[in-house]
Amino acid sequence: MSVHVIGAGVAGLAAACQLTEAGHHVILFEAAKTAGGRARSHYDNVLGCRIDNGNHLLLSGNISTLSYLHRIGAKRSLTGPAGPVFPFHDLRTGEDWTLRLNQGSFPWWLFSRRHRVPGTRLHHYLGLLKIRKAKPADLVAPLLAGTGPLYTQLLELLAVSALNTSPHVAAAAALRSVFEETLELGGYATIPRYARIGLSETFVDPALDWLRQHGADIRLGERVTEISPGQATVLAVPPWAAAELVPGLLVPNEFESIYNLHFKYALPPGEAGFWGFIGGMTEWVFAHSNVLSVTISAASRYADMSPEDIAAKVWSEIASAFSLSPEIPIYRAIWEKRATMLATPAQMARRPKTRTANPNLMLAGDWTDTGLPATIEGAIRSGNAAALALMSNFNS
Ligand SMILES: Cc1cc2nc3c(=O)[nH]c(=O)nc-3n(C[C@H](O)[C@H](O)[C@H](O)COP(=O)(O)OP(=O)(O)OC[C@H]3O[C@@H](n4cnc5c(N)ncnc54)[C@H](O)[C@@H]3O)c2cc1C
Repeated sequence: MSVHVIGAGVAGLAAACQLTEAGHHVILFEAAKTAGGRARSHYDNVLGCRIDNGNHLLLSGNISTLSYLHRIGAKRSLTGPAGPVFPFHDLRTGEDWTLRLNQGSFPWWLFSRRHRVPGTRLHHYLGLLKIRKAKPADLVAPLLAGTGPLYTQLLELLAVSALNTSPHVAAAAALRSVFEETLELGGYATIPRYARIGLSETFVDPALDWLRQHGADIRLGERVTEISPGQATVLAVPPWAAAELVPGLLVPNEFESIYNLHFKYALPPGEAGFWGFIGGMTEWVFAHSNVLSVTISAASRYADMSPEDIAAKVWSEIASAFSLSPEIPIYRAIWEKRATMLATPAQMARRPKTRTANPNLMLAGDWTDTGLPATIEGAIRSGNAAALALMSNFNS
């Protein structure tokens, strides 16, 4: 059977691989000249090297991502610390500390003051259980208020990073699956993972190679402008593009930005290769071989600041944390304005299911109703689900 997959972000790539492996002939259409969508790498002529559009942090519990990478022969392209280790720098106190979970499923680390988040007691962690019972209208910040210093030292940063939405307006239920599939399973599911070389080298190029080797037809630079109702299709484009192609489709229509700064600076990677920052503008710092990359989520709050002012503030925080020269190295700022959907209760309610009114047309993308926030794991899972739904129609 010939199947059209529209959009070569990770959702479309995952769908294309799943369909190809099942023996279907896939034609993959991508509007841009390069594949990868919101997870891509490119050569930057200011820095003189390849960079990613933004740091992407995954966890070992992201099982759909790991099996996708296994399928395309790219599992070894992820790297990260040997265990569930998260180093942090607190800009308010100047303190460095490391969250060190144990590998097994029982959380022994919670009983050791040395392993817990500084200043937290066991009962603060019990407050986390509220996430399990979060109702659709519950918001992250009020629901987790009882977790005290655990919130200000850790959960606030984790929530804004996972949901790319201010915890004051973000749906708490959106965090449930993240906790269920990582922290609640134990340390072995919470080991940080990120691209060894770059996002394209991990998620995109190996998939394109694999698809070509298996007979798929890949058409880069071909924007699809209409969908033929009788053609089996996976639509894996962003929500605004899906709404244009499928009239009447309800989709998320509010978005949040992510700001990434790439400084030309070689810093020893330390134990994990990255650090979480608390109490400032900087949120995550990744030490690549000759570039320090900084991520700031829910970045619309800084929309009034100039790129120069943001870079100056972020570099001053990094310089103070690592005792570096205050002189700002050359840098590239990448502001992804529609990085993800806004994870408010109202926007979560607008996420459509995989199946549409047309049995030949399935939806995929991080913005569909995956049960996960808008992440690589959610996007890949949505692509798999769309492929499986189409194939179940072929068989019925
Ligand atoms: C800066 C940044 C940091 C992030 N950090 C993380 C992170 O740390 N961890 C994590 O898990 N996730 C992270 N994410 C989210 C992650 O990148 C996305 O969830 C994922 O890439 C979305 O993939 P997708 O395939 O659903 O959509 P997209 O990547 O948007 O792919 C859609 C594709 O469709 C194409 N297209 C659009 N219209 C058409 C058309 N008419 N015809 C053909 N093609 C079309 C587009 O060009 C695009 O390539 C981050 C995102 C950004 C931007």
